[in-house]
Amino acid sequence: MVKVGIVALQGGVAEHYHMVRLAGERSGIPAEPVIVKKPGQLEGLDAIIIPGGESTTIGVVARRVGLLEPLRDALLSGTPALGTCAGAIIMAKRVTAGSKGGQPLLGVMDVEVHRNYFGRQRESFELDLRIDFLDEKPFRGVFIRAPAFTDFWASARPAATARIDGSEVHVAAVEGGLVATSFHPELTGDTRIHEYLLRLAKR
Ligand code: GLN
Repeated sequence: MVKVGIVALQGGVAEHYHMVRLAGERSGIPAEPVIVKKPGQLEGLDAIIIPGGESTTIGVVARRVGLLEPLRDALLSGTPALGTCAGAIIMAKRVTAGSKGGQPLLGVMDVEVHRNYFGRQRESFELDLRIDFLDEKPFRGVFIRAPAFTDFWASARPAATARIDGSEVHVAAVEGGLVATSFHPELTGDTRIHEYLLRLAKR
């Protein structure tokens, strides 16, 4: 049984919970979602999901409840993880256009993320994407006040690139067992990214 912790401080927790169940059924890798609100709940997890929402809130609350450090340790010690939207932001080592005075980050991926990259004109939109760690079938990207990945170093690399308003924008990143997306796979019926996380956890 693959135990997938879902950081449940704010944001799209229920949607990921449901997707972990579905991904388990579809992949044939039995999976159990586990709600994580406190450090003790990180024990025995095989994978971790950090949902979308508001990255400053998630970071501030994580620090307040003492989850920031142990979560960082879990990811740095090799627990595979998926961060979506705000979750991707707090996994990044560098954030631009963020809150004044900075915001608490896990800082575990060698990427730069630009918050609210698409601005007011494109608050939310959908787009078919090609994800390089999945099969060829397009993945429907749901973007809501989404960030973009603007720099990669060390072993981090782009995993999906979209052409938006005439320019190439990186909307997913991978570094070892860490996966981050600008968009919200949990808001589609497509469990392939969650199934990928289960396969990473089983290795
Ligand atoms: N704009 C949010 C942030 O900067 C992220 C939005 C989302 O997770 N849908 O934290």
